Amino acid sequence: MKGDYCHDCARAKTEPWMLFQSSCDGCRARMVARSPAFDESRRSGKLTPAYRSLLAVALVSHDEVKAAAAEDATGKGPCLA
Ligand SMILES: [Zn+2]
Repeated sequence: MKGDYCHDCARAKTEPWMLFQSSCDGCRARMVARSPAFDESRRSGKLTPAYRSLLAVALVSHDEVKAAAAEDATGKGPCLA
């Protein structure tokens, strides 16, 4: 449902939000963006095998995950790890 309005994606951009729609590309990208595998890839500066397989399972691209991470309000607040 790429391009369709997603309530959960919209909320996640403005506040810490923990709901995901499995049918939504943006939600799946956000889920991957919050995973330890993405964190590890970002810190190591390369796509780890665990992260690559997660991308394959979630059916999203690395670019979509980076975009989701940039827009995700979760993690930007002071009280969230
Ligand atoms: Zn969504």
